[in-house]
Amino acid sequence: METTLSQKQIAELIEAATEARHRAYAPYSHFLVGAALLGADGKTYVGCNVENASFGLTLCAERAAVANAIAQGCRNFCALAVVSETDNGPATPCGACRQVLAEFSPSLTIICARESGSVRILALNDLLPELFYFNDR
Ligand SMILES: [Zn+2]
Repeated sequence: METTLSQKQIAELIEAATEARHRAYAPYSHFLVGAALLGADGKTYVGCNVENASFGLTLCAERAAVANAIAQGCRNFCALAVVSETDNGPATPCGACRQVLAEFSPSLTIICARESGSVRILALNDLLPELFYFNDR
C-alpha cells in the first residue's frame, strides 16, 4: 500500500511498538505483541497485550494503545504499528481491534511488522470494508 509516512516515521513507530512488546504480559500464549499509534497530534501512544487467567478478558496491544491515547486526550490517529513474531509473516490486528480502530480513524494506515524484520503496510479500509458506525457520531 502507498503511504505518506516517511521511512523515519515508520521506523520510529516500529521501534516504539517493539519496546512495548517487550513489556507485554502473555504468560499463557507467550505471543507478545506491541502496538504504537501515531496520533494526529504528532505524539505516539503505545500498548501491549495483557492476558488474563480468564482468557476472554485478554486485551490486545492495539486496543491497549487506543485506550492509552484516549486517556491522554488524542482521538485521531494517522498510523498504527503492530509488532509480533510469527512464522508466517507479520500478524494483522484481530477483528475486534479493527472495529475499535475504525471508531476513531477509519482510514488508518497499519504497519504490521515481525520483530525479526518483515513489514507489511496495509489500510484499515482494506482490512475492514464497509465498517459499522453510527451516523450521528
Ligand atoms: Zn485484537
